[in-house]
Amino acid sequence: MSEEYYGCSNGDCIIQRPDGVHTNGICKCLQDIPAGTQVRVRAGIMRLRKQRDDLQTILMAAMENLGLQQCTKCGHLHMREYICYECRYDDSVTE
Ligand SMILES: [Zn+2]
Ligand SMILES: [Zn+2]
Repeated sequence: MSEEYYGCSNGDCIIQRPDGVHTNGICKCLQDIPAGTQVRVRAGIMRLRKQRDDLQTILMAAMENLGLQQCTKCGHLHMREYICYECRYDDSVTE
């Protein structure tokens, strides 16, 4: 994993679900927080997640309007009709 990971690597982690191999356990991220506070922290995280998803949707729509797409290979944005300037991968070739 190249990205920094802040979760506890359990399958139901509330901070960040691990990719690929993970432990099938209960998320341990909030276990040291008092139960009363835990509920609010959990609700806050869920709300942030929702906002992130909403932003993602808006971003995708905006990209679509601008004629941008995300490179399927490296994830960089590039114009739909051109090859990826980052990794030179040609998205249009895949069919
Ligand atoms: Zn966790
Ligand atoms: Zn690329």
